[in-house]
Amino acid sequence: MNLKNLTAEKLVGLYKNGDLTATEVITNVYEEIERSDKDIHAFLALCQQRAIEEARRMDAKIAAGDAVGPLAGVPVAIKDNMVIRDVPTTCGSRILENFVPPYTATVVERLRSAGAIVIGKTNCDEFAMGSSTENSAFFPTRNPHNLQRVPGGSSGGSAASVASGTSVLALGSDTGGSIRTPASFCGVVGMKPTYGRVSRYGLVAFASSLDQIGPFSKSVRESAQVLETICGFDHFDSTSADASVDEFVKNLDQPIKDTRIGVPKEYFIGGLDREVKARIEAGIRLYESLGCDIQEISLPHTEYAIATYYLIATAEASSNLARYDGVRFGIRESGNSSLQEMYRATRHAGFGKEVKRRVLLGTYALSAGYYDAYYLKALKVRTLILRDFQKAFEQVDVILTPTSPTVAFKIGEKTDDPLSMYLSDIFTITCNLAGLPGISVPCGKNSEGLPIGLQLMANHFQEALLLRVAHHFEKAGGFTLTPPTPQLA
Ligand code: GLN
Repeated sequence: MNLKNLTAEKLVGLYKNGDLTATEVITNVYEEIERSDKDIHAFLALCQQRAIEEARRMDAKIAAGDAVGPLAGVPVAIKDNMVIRDVPTTCGSRILENFVPPYTATVVERLRSAGAIVIGKTNCDEFAMGSSTENSAFFPTRNPHNLQRVPGGSSGGSAASVASGTSVLALGSDTGGSIRTPASFCGVVGMKPTYGRVSRYGLVAFASSLDQIGPFSKSVRESAQVLETICGFDHFDSTSADASVDEFVKNLDQPIKDTRIGVPKEYFIGGLDREVKARIEAGIRLYESLGCDIQEISLPHTEYAIATYYLIATAEASSNLARYDGVRFGIRESGNSSLQEMYRATRHAGFGKEVKRRVLLGTYALSAGYYDAYYLKALKVRTLILRDFQKAFEQVDVILTPTSPTVAFKIGEKTDDPLSMYLSDIFTITCNLAGLPGISVPCGKNSEGLPIGLQLMANHFQEALLLRVAHHFEKAGGFTLTPPTPQLA
């Protein structure tokens, strides 16, 4: 059985027809992890015993003809910055190495209510800070399409697991592109919903005004199904939006003819890889052939996005990460010294290089004398970036861009140059700054067989439209289900 070719929908159909059992599938998942994850390293923790028990219970329910949820028996992987009761949560950090949370994130509760089976926790950049999963304190994850390449980050483990068939669906979090970038590098669908659409309760905070949870899948339809399952108001998250939950799946096949698609000229810049550009242009032509109205638009403040993001994200991170002081969570160093010394030693030993860099940058940006010059200025530019989008959405319905300026880069290629790593986020971070929904869909491969992603963004709470436009692209371009053939070189 190859999960690489099975969508959630197909799987549930096979269970209901009695052609397959959830127990077989979940057992197979762990065999596959045993076989292939020693090369890919997508997982940090597995929940094998509970997953098998849940699968058995699901099989009994199906055999008895009981009603089951839309994700009944579907194996799902969860990024290791979302908590699940009694399952270790590390956020890819040494500081949380021994942390076992006492409660479960809302998204996981909701997936479970729909019948999904959580199989394990996936690797990520430490506290989701990074674009390659190389900042994990434990090991880097490798791209299933080419083991010498990164899977993207920070939700690299989730993307790699869906692409390599060790899970059918996965959740990631996206603060500046951490779902969309790995989706594009691994050749799968990845979506960041509107800020507030999905509850962040149980998501370990990185930059709270930007963080949002979303799905990875092999098809847009499955992402629509996951989103329908996890979104909606949650009184445990004060920023959760009380917006109506649309029927995302049911709306997918509504026509998209005459949809106005904007292509921002600022996104076709110098650093954009030639082959990526060619595939995106082919994507634009595909939409034209589907009767969409393609228009050039301008998002003039795009050039300030990286600076704005790295001020706001680091400022919020420095405040959020203050809680890791050796008192309540995770490891503690130098228990017998003064309180101050214990804090210092714990944070020194527990945090990696990138996290320390961000805490320092963020603390600096927030400190007296610099607050107005940096943090406050960044907030003002954030508003200008949002206004660019608001203006654009008066003219078009959806915006189309590359997801990333390049394909997956080599492991180690950018680790010594944080700025070049930061620059790889150029096309994804504006969406977070503006709070918009965005999706990355596969749009072919380059000459070396590395996947390329096309990004679509829509106005706030326009996920139904966004998914529909992405679904038609996938259908017309035949981009679904192109499982990777791992190469070593
Ligand atoms: N690469 C970006 C960063 O390092 C985005 C990370 C994310 O979305 N979590 O901040």
